[in-house]
Amino acid sequence: MTKKYNYIIIGSGIVGMAIARAIKIRRPDASLLIIDKETREAFHASSRNSGVLHAGFYYTADSLKAKLTVAGNHAMKEFCRRHQLDINECGKLVVAQDADERDTLYELEKRGHRNGSNVEIIGADQAKEIDPNVKTYEKALWSPDTASIDPKQVCRCMREQLESAGVEFLFETKYLRRQSGAVETNRGSFQGDRVINCAGSYADTIARDFGFGGQYTMIPFKGLYLKYTKNKTDVKVHVYPVPNLRNPFLGVHFTKTVDGTIKIGPTAIPALWKEQYGFWDNFRLGEMLKISMEEVRLFAQNSFGFRSLAFEEMRKYRKRYFVGLAQAMVEQIDPDGFTEYTQPGIRAQLLDTKTRKLVQDFVVEADKSSVHLLNAVSPAFTCSLAFAEMLLDQYEIA
Ligand SMILES: Cc1cc2nc3c(=O)[nH]c(=O)nc-3n(C[C@H](O)[C@H](O)[C@H](O)COP(=O)(O)OP(=O)(O)OC[C@H]3O[C@@H](n4cnc5c(N)ncnc54)[C@H](O)[C@@H]3O)c2cc1C
Repeated sequence: MTKKYNYIIIGSGIVGMAIARAIKIRRPDASLLIIDKETREAFHASSRNSGVLHAGFYYTADSLKAKLTVAGNHAMKEFCRRHQLDINECGKLVVAQDADERDTLYELEKRGHRNGSNVEIIGADQAKEIDPNVKTYEKALWSPDTASIDPKQVCRCMREQLESAGVEFLFETKYLRRQSGAVETNRGSFQGDRVINCAGSYADTIARDFGFGGQYTMIPFKGLYLKYTKNKTDVKVHVYPVPNLRNPFLGVHFTKTVDGTIKIGPTAIPALWKEQYGFWDNFRLGEMLKISMEEVRLFAQNSFGFRSLAFEEMRKYRKRYFVGLAQAMVEQIDPDGFTEYTQPGIRAQLLDTKTRKLVQDFVVEADKSSVHLLNAVSPAFTCSLAFAEMLLDQYEIA
């Protein structure tokens, strides 16, 4: 027998849960089911990220990221405060290595001001007052609103809140296909007035069953992190390099976690299948063939500079090179202090198969019966609560 709900959400990551939360606030009586193929909430990107609440200065003004990051940052901090979850409000310095990068800092500042982000360009001396260990070329960008949270703690809390509001979670329940308008899983079939696809790296394949996402395919990029196990005060704030604005990755940076621990990363190494955390983890032959063929094409055509990106990222498998990138942003740090690789994450990054470019912004496709979140890449954790509100309004979800 097919059980019926007002809403079925596929995926218990932060995006799926934030949407469920927003629906329940507006429609407390709505019946809502969240299915996830894993044993607990937020098993993938939502618990395997840097945990940084971004402040909204990287993104061009026309993007959803620009519209949602500042509001999302405030909303997530408010959520954490209300539920007494940890926040480290240490702020962030973006540091330059040369004159070109220094000039890009002004572009970031301009974008930030347009997006309502509280950022300013400061001199190298002022940057040293914030963190005596940072090294920058003449100027730095200071973002006091960048903070960090514990993503696992936030997601656990959100699940508990949702369960007490009457949202049903079904774990180890994998979406298999759409059959006669119902969602078919390994644990039976479910009918929803609205199906909301927040399946992260599998959102593209699920969307296709509903007639969406035909223009895109997912290219996974693996993010490795190294933990610094010496003195926590060696770096006091988040320290980021100036990114290459042509691609969606921010470069290897220092993150201060909620308890002040220093970690560096993430890399953006092209992976061969969607959940390839370790060498053979979650190996799926069909997926590997499809993704590796796409990557070979990108490599051959050198679309969006993929060839140099791939070479550069693969070098980061060499620990000394990886650590060297972080060392360039500070006066001194002990390279032998980076002793542990922490849990890696995989970015569910969309490739536009027509333009052959990586998609920079969030992508949403929808009709009256289904909604698909197709490129919920960074900073979707930061944006999630604001993103959910926007979706409910724009797609008349609740
Ligand atoms: C290395 C890295 C660093 C990042 N750093 C930051 C950061 O500092 N700040 C920030 O704001 N963002 C960051 N992000 C981005 C952020 O983590 C993601 O944008 C966000 O977590 C996406 O959430 P989601 O709910 O869409 O996806 P996910 O968390 O991946 O959730 C998708 C869920 O769908 C489930 N699922 C998939 N297929 C099926 C199926 N067939 N049936 C049932 N369930 C299914 C999965 O099990 C999973 O639980 C980072 C991401 C990575 C990878």
